Amino acid sequence: DLTVENLTHRYGDVPVLQDISLRIPAGEILCVIGPSGCGKSTLLRMIGGLERPDAGQVIQLGTPPDGCLNPLTYVFQDFALLPWRTVGGNISLVLEDHGIRSQAADRIISDVLARTKLSDFRDALPRQLSGGMKQRVAIARALAVNPAVMLLDEPLSALDAQTRELLMEDLVTLWERQPFTGVYVTHNLAEAVRLGHRIAVLSRRPGQVREVIEVDVPLAERTPGDARLDALQ
Ligand code: ATP
Ligand code: MG
Repeated sequence: DLTVENLTHRYGDVPVLQDISLRIPAGEILCVIGPSGCGKSTLLRMIGGLERPDAGQVIQLGTPPDGCLNPLTYVFQDFALLPWRTVGGNISLVLEDHGIRSQAADRIISDVLARTKLSDFRDALPRQLSGGMKQRVAIARALAVNPAVMLLDEPLSALDAQTRELLMEDLVTLWERQPFTGVYVTHNLAEAVRLGHRIAVLSRRPGQVREVIEVDVPLAERTPGDARLDALQ
């Protein structure tokens, strides 16, 4: 489980997050929604350890998965791929960071590219790919370290509606094959309702948890137009 306890953060004198407490059971996705500027990215950066909270703490419990190289990985809105490295090269770079090279790296890269339907694009450069494919590369790269927790910051918001829909299906398929623990930030309620086991709704800045909604429908059954989901929107 991942637990966030009474997290508070300020930039200078400006409070951005106020007393945030959340619990994410292992293997579940928590979606975090809230208005622009309410501190969603700040919350994710503090969970990821990129920034220190002024008060409160983040606790990660449980055994990391087999072959876990990094307990937390990020997927960003803008993909953050290196333009001069191929798809395979972008993934091998993070593996090298963990001392994994040659055949061992090769096996992992083949596996994550197969899971994200990118096997044919291993030698392509990012500029040769569509936005949706670039984001699948970023997801493959995050999966390559076999993280205990995936942190996703508006991963689909740079994409058009149709591509977003396809990527949501892909994320559900990936999650079903290997249920990861995820914190998924979005300002799109439809996305949250499609992908979240729970949805934490933050208030305007300073972000506070207004409510946590539990969505009692299995991810695979969440088709568009489902009345149970429409009721939440
Ligand atoms: P969006 O939906 O637009 O991505 P967000 O909810 O992710 O917004 P954050 O990026 O976490 O919001 O920012 C929260 C607030 O903190 C904003 O008002 C922002 O201007 C401010 N802020 C963010 N980073 C810094 C920083 N490094 N220094 C000062 N203020 C910052
Ligand atoms: Mg943000």
